[in-house]
Amino acid sequence: MKIVAAKEVEVGERRVALVPETVARLVKQGLEVWVEAGAGEQSFFYDTAYEAAGAKIISEPETLWREADILLKVGIPQEREVDLLREGAVLIGFLNPLGQPTLVQRLSERQVTAFSIEMIPRTSRAQSMDALSSQASVAGYQAVLIAAAALPKYFPMLTTAAGTIAPAKVFVMGAGVAGLQAIATARRLGAVVEAFDIRPAVKEEVQSLGAKFVEVQLQEETVAAGGYAKEISEAAKQRTQEVVGEHVKQSDVVITTAQVPGRKAPLLVTQEMVAQMKPGSVIVDLAAEQGGNCACTEAGRDVQWNGVTIIGPINLPSSVPIHASQLYSKNLATLVQYIVKDNTLKLDFEDDIIKAACITHAGEVRNSRVRDAIEALSNQQAVS
Ligand code: NAD
Repeated sequence: MKIVAAKEVEVGERRVALVPETVARLVKQGLEVWVEAGAGEQSFFYDTAYEAAGAKIISEPETLWREADILLKVGIPQEREVDLLREGAVLIGFLNPLGQPTLVQRLSERQVTAFSIEMIPRTSRAQSMDALSSQASVAGYQAVLIAAAALPKYFPMLTTAAGTIAPAKVFVMGAGVAGLQAIATARRLGAVVEAFDIRPAVKEEVQSLGAKFVEVQLQEETVAAGGYAKEISEAAKQRTQEVVGEHVKQSDVVITTAQVPGRKAPLLVTQEMVAQMKPGSVIVDLAAEQGGNCACTEAGRDVQWNGVTIIGPINLPSSVPIHASQLYSKNLATLVQYIVKDNTLKLDFEDDIIKAACITHAGEVRNSRVRDAIEALSNQQAVS
């Protein structure tokens, strides 16, 4: 079987789907690996390293897409690329199926077997394929570094001959994978850290990282199936804002990471809260691409508001391309090893991982949420 890693064409995407170390592992298992020339350049993995690991370097992208048995990508492919894939080929990447119904329809028409890596279940069994986690962790780390660089203060406490510097106060909102990594990173830099999440279960994890957990007593269930957060009522949102507002006001840095799967990001930091922050304070909003947790956030921009800097970064994992690619590559290789046995594709649709992550197969859109999104799109097109 030919396992193929294509070059990313999206502007600003520096990651690569396979790194040489993973290529060597796949080759050792008897798989043939092709890598597009220059695919790893932006993440400092050069063609020579891929060749040394046993990959064949392919210069013509058309050949690569046409001949692939399993094509690995980071971001979504372009339509012309999808049209090159042969019937029955497998495509794996962050395909954003709910946001890209047209692409999914095309993949199904082309009889491509597409795996959307963000649909891998968040279970212990699937942990080593969980690219949402591996990449969120990179984002959480990088968010703190961005905040530290933008903050006109030290992070750690310092006792010097010229006086004592108080440590920075960091408030992390949303203590999922990115939030926990942000807490750990801010603590390592010497900040005093507080954190908040509507899922009470994370309290112990927050405390074990040396941060204080800010508690909000809500009279409703906040956890949905799979351990994810649920969208909360208006009353609960208001209660939350009252409590967290006080902590935002006192913080030098606020890092927001709160998300509810399939929904716009919840608004946690209002304009009034930003207005009460000290001049020079910094907010890094990791939910910027999903609408933002802060009312002042603009995705992809740094906004100055009343002396507060609000940063809405896009695709943070791409800014740490070596390690983000290394982790992502491991996630993909584990999935490849899961679906390829004895050099043959073996898909068991009773298996929960395959059932969840395979979005198109044999001309069929297999995921019901994705099917609904496609239906909504065609209804919309019929109306207009
Ligand atoms: P996410 O990116 O969807 O959300 C980030 C955090 O925001 C979550 O902790 C969520 O509770 C929080 N949040 C949502 N609304 C909020 C609000 N209004 N106020 C404050 N916080 C809010 O989450 P994620 O990091 O992808 O992880 C979510 C879940 O998946 C967690 O339960 C995590 O333990 C679980 N998970 C399990 C595994 C595994 O078992 N292998 C792996 C990864 C994640």
